[in-house]
Amino acid sequence: MTKYIFVTGGVSSSLGKGLTASSLGRLLKSRGLKVTMCKLDPYLNVDPGTMNPGEHGEVFVTDDGGETDLDLGHYERFIDESLSRMSNTTTGSIYSKVIAKERRGDYLGKTVQVIPHITDEIKDRLRRLGTLGADIAIVEIGGTVGDMEIIPFLEAIRQFRRDAGRGNVCYVHLTLVPYLAPSGEQKTKPTQHSVTELRSHGIQPDVIVCRSDQPISDGLKRKISLLCDVPNNAVISAIDAPSIYDIPLNMHHEGLDRIVCDIMNIDLVEHPIDLSAWEDVVRRVHHTNTTLRIGIVGKYVTMPDAYLSVAESLRHAGFAIGANTKLEWLEAERVPSEIDALRLRQLDAIVIPGGFGERGIEGMVATARIAREHQIPLLGICLGMQVMVIEFARHVLGLGDAHSTEFSLTTTAPVIALMQEQMDVTDLGGTMRLGACPAMLAEGSQVAELYGATVVSERHRHRYEFNSRFVEQYESSGMRCSGSSPDGRLVEFIEMPGHPFFVGTQAHPEFKSRPDRPHPLFRGLINAASVRAEGREPHILDPQSVDVTL
Ligand code: GLN
Repeated sequence: MTKYIFVTGGVSSSLGKGLTASSLGRLLKSRGLKVTMCKLDPYLNVDPGTMNPGEHGEVFVTDDGGETDLDLGHYERFIDESLSRMSNTTTGSIYSKVIAKERRGDYLGKTVQVIPHITDEIKDRLRRLGTLGADIAIVEIGGTVGDMEIIPFLEAIRQFRRDAGRGNVCYVHLTLVPYLAPSGEQKTKPTQHSVTELRSHGIQPDVIVCRSDQPISDGLKRKISLLCDVPNNAVISAIDAPSIYDIPLNMHHEGLDRIVCDIMNIDLVEHPIDLSAWEDVVRRVHHTNTTLRIGIVGKYVTMPDAYLSVAESLRHAGFAIGANTKLEWLEAERVPSEIDALRLRQLDAIVIPGGFGERGIEGMVATARIAREHQIPLLGICLGMQVMVIEFARHVLGLGDAHSTEFSLTTTAPVIALMQEQMDVTDLGGTMRLGACPAMLAEGSQVAELYGATVVSERHRHRYEFNSRFVEQYESSGMRCSGSSPDGRLVEFIEMPGHPFFVGTQAHPEFKSRPDRPHPLFRGLINAASVRAEGREPHILDPQSVDVTL
């Protein structure tokens, strides 16, 4: 039977609930337990797919095509499990389900209410997590205790312990212990208030994790223990860590996994911890012998969370070769300017990530041209690949007004188009291609070599495709279409023989990179960047570095 850990947050948002939950997940997995994770988000959007990444951060895509909160990316990277759309529930999705049931008459004429109908639907989703065969389900409640939006979630998780039984549920509450410089003291009052607020919803936390910029003294822990009514060893100090990958080790040092296991009657002797693999990651994070400058040219660069998985994937690839990846964010809209063009040429490698909408497209095209002409390693991801295709058509194939039909319906060279347009179908209600799709890689291609396989699976999230009508023109002019869908109709990968690294993929490889198993395409890019940076020999790549099986 699955046991549940609920992680709530108090005092302030952005305390790192997602990372705390993920770190706990990693520790429990390192004790040999099977872990799954879930995020309950209190907003009314049915899923984050429609939310602006500039405001909300990236949309993380799961294998089954779920468009989910970026915290799922942390979960996958830390617990090293592929999750599904079941791992993200929003208030909007709960309400739309309940309202649909009401319209169908499923409630048999009853008055439909937040309690019990909304809370029952929330509990149903939680119970469904229990069908996945995990020993532990860690459930993060988005938002902060005290927000009115999260009240139904708090009520549902309160009831859940009654239903599941005491030893099967653990409540972890994350708070902030601020340091007040004038008095030179750390303050516990916000934590006390936050716990009081949580209790007003009937939840007494079992564990309190205290975020602070300095370690919390034993005296302060005793005070929090006394005033918030948790054992001394259930007050965990979570100081700011130099890297997010340090957090599991810090949490273990503070005893988080031990106390949680105690509360849920999990025998520590039966489940000894083995952190060696994670310690190895952390060693690599901190032992770098070179710095690589990697540019990310995108539309939402003022909100780096919009490209969170891309940034982490670049870092993972850096860890593998002892390189510190210094990310330089370039606003695509500004790139055609001289100064940015110069800056691009000084970089060791460039990524053009995914995106929607026309803003910044010309800057991305200019970037692709600079990378192609100046032999700068470039990885184009989804929109990034489409931009590489447009640039090549305009400047190599001589198709001056080549474009994607996403941005120009009058172009004479629609090198990127909706699948329906390519097939001369009139219904343009383009559906998004979402989730894991297989691709076949050409024998002997650069991508096949990097992956160490000719059949791979990557996650997708896009509507437009390389227009297959133009493939021959590209191939006879120096660009290789090196991967396609199994039926051969869709181009999935492009590359350019003779260029150190000019690779584009229609998929989103960033969702599958792990700190200890960097994604092959990011490894290829970082490897090419290090060659460019130091003129040194390429590192030998381990082709099986990531699970690309179907
Ligand atoms: N806007 C492009 C499309 O829909 C690319 C999407 C993306 O980069 N995720 O095809």
